[in-house]
Amino acid sequence: MSGRPASHLFYQGRGRKPVLEQARGVYMWDVDGKRYLDGSSGAMVCNIGHGNDRVLAAMRAQMDKATFGYRLHFETEASERLATKTAGLMPPGLNRVFFVSGGSEAVESALKLARQYALAVGQAQRWKVISRFPSYHGATLGALAVTGYAPMTAPFDPMMRPMPKIPAPRAYLDGLDPEDPATGRHYADMLETKIMEEGPETVLAFIVEPVGGASTGALVPPAGYLQRVREICDRHGVLMITDEVMTGAGRTGAFLATDHWGVPPDIIVLSKGYAAGYVPLGAMVAHERLVEPVLDSGGFIHGYTYAGNPLACAAGLAVLDEIEREGLIGNAAAMGERLRARLDGLMQKYPFIGDVRGKGLLLAFEFVSDRASMAPLPPEAKAFDRFVQIAYEQGLIVYARRTRGGYSGDHILVCPPMIVTDAHLDEITEGLDRSLAQFA
Ligand code: PLP
Repeated sequence: MSGRPASHLFYQGRGRKPVLEQARGVYMWDVDGKRYLDGSSGAMVCNIGHGNDRVLAAMRAQMDKATFGYRLHFETEASERLATKTAGLMPPGLNRVFFVSGGSEAVESALKLARQYALAVGQAQRWKVISRFPSYHGATLGALAVTGYAPMTAPFDPMMRPMPKIPAPRAYLDGLDPEDPATGRHYADMLETKIMEEGPETVLAFIVEPVGGASTGALVPPAGYLQRVREICDRHGVLMITDEVMTGAGRTGAFLATDHWGVPPDIIVLSKGYAAGYVPLGAMVAHERLVEPVLDSGGFIHGYTYAGNPLACAAGLAVLDEIEREGLIGNAAAMGERLRARLDGLMQKYPFIGDVRGKGLLLAFEFVSDRASMAPLPPEAKAFDRFVQIAYEQGLIVYARRTRGGYSGDHILVCPPMIVTDAHLDEITEGLDRSLAQFA
């Protein structure tokens, strides 16, 4: 990596990364020929693996026809078919699909549709969107206002209207049993308390990652939590928005994470696995009950230039077809159980792993300095940076974040593509084991 010319490109910091040459299935190669197993599907994106021939063929076929048609000038077959296919995978009534190019745009769209719905039905006083901490809903200022992750929000606080937050249901830190319905009630009731504090007539929506993503490290809700959240939202006329950017399209072993609990939200946001990294694509899917009044009262005042472009939609459609054809959601459920058991085994071996959690192939383990108190490793240990680097050197890509409100607590997400086999799980487990031994 040394001796490379200075780059004009910048993202987060100054560090240089290996240069990607090729990616196929669960593997990626850099220009020096080093092979990596993509143990986090990038950022939990490449759910069907890299370089899928059928998806590439569908994209080529669309490219030969048209790569762009402005949505206010043309309808396209690709966007119509993807909208119909998507609506068919949603709970009843959630059948109106609005395309965007990523997760943050999908969240912004959901917030704005919710607000316009309130205006359309004569509830102009509703504008507050309650969310949780920790949480992550995107990088744009609207999505950031509902994000509960101080390292990413604090510099921009003066530029955003602060939105009310409640704690995420981290039973494992609070010493509560996640299987006990009383635990689910305990955390869900915090929403009702917050709604009452804010004034129910002012609360527009509650936005929630049904299984937590990077911010909580694959936090699974305690028993009855989402069902009770739904009841509370209904009781106060508050819309329930589920952010399935990371969980959607099968990663947790069901198309939507909320399918595990049979809880239908009012608006769903999708991205990441929805086009599995082949193109930038996301969608906001809303209940028809919300969309109709908005369209009747002058239309949705929102949209992005690239929205619904036919190439992106053709790719998305091919990805959904591939998930169905190859039974990848079932594979995510089955392989997720096996990988979970392997992570539990590693927890037995390494006392600095304090918790293993997740659902399907959205799995994580958390580092602690003391398992009894669940005290985190000190931030100076830079645990996640160090662990990711060690794993990288072993040819294994994992995804790391801080979890305790953002400034401390380190977890590692292990989320390989949904095409993984037992042999890949062996390779992941061996890579993790070697990395943990070196990290110790
Ligand atoms: N919502 C969740 C749950 C996410 O995990 C992410 C990205 O990590 C986003 C929203 C934002 O998506 P994007 O980075 O595509 O804008």
